[in-house]
Amino acid sequence: MSLNFPFDPVERAAEVESLVMKDGKRLYYRFRAAPYYGGIATADAIGCSFLCAYCWNYFRNLNPARFNKFYSAQEVAENLLKIARKRSFHLFRITGSEPLLGEASLEHLIGLLKIIFREQPQSVFILETNGFFLGCRKDLIEKLIFKNLWVRISLKGVDEESFELISGVKREFFQYPLAALKELEKEGMKAWPAVMRDLFTDEEIGRLEKTLQEHGIGAGLEEEGLEEYPFVSENMKKRNVQRRGQ
Ligand code: SF4
Repeated sequence: MSLNFPFDPVERAAEVESLVMKDGKRLYYRFRAAPYYGGIATADAIGCSFLCAYCWNYFRNLNPARFNKFYSAQEVAENLLKIARKRSFHLFRITGSEPLLGEASLEHLIGLLKIIFREQPQSVFILETNGFFLGCRKDLIEKLIFKNLWVRISLKGVDEESFELISGVKREFFQYPLAALKELEKEGMKAWPAVMRDLFTDEEIGRLEKTLQEHGIGAGLEEEGLEEYPFVSENMKKRNVQRRGQ
């Protein structure tokens, strides 16, 4: 895939979705028990509308066409439920990618949620997303109203400039994840913003918190820590993204 920074995420999402979705099935490369959130059944998928300098799945997301193992929602659910039963987990997620690229990936996710919540009604599914699709297509948020679906939106920057530098996406799209958060709260869904703490100063984090307040977003800001694998350091250097925080 050709990619010039900064890029249009609408075009990229459509292109990536055409590569990672086939007949309702999506590209995944691994299913595992992960230690995060105290233990969570995790599906690692491929394909994102962004290409963050710090992404730990950078090279798979850069070029998803190299992969070819597609799974139906039923197959993904079976893999995750098997892990959850074995480890007594009640939490589920998809990671390493953007679960929501367009309507095909949305329908795949809905299919997966229906099976998980039918088989383990007390489970919680944490939707880890960059928030772009939900901000763009607020009309589709109602399709995701499930009692135990929690939405964690990773904000890539504290303002338009840092958003563009870090995510690779044109700066004017900075507002979309914020719009998604506001709409999710309006719908009464549990949703919160997260940010990569190591990339920002205290003053910048304070500024982001003020921006969230100005948008009427009540949820607190989660601070993520950078997992700096050697290739992550290399990509950050190439993209001129530096550690600035604690
Ligand atoms: S939004 Fe997440 S999955 Fe997508 S490129 Fe950024 S870090 Fe990777």
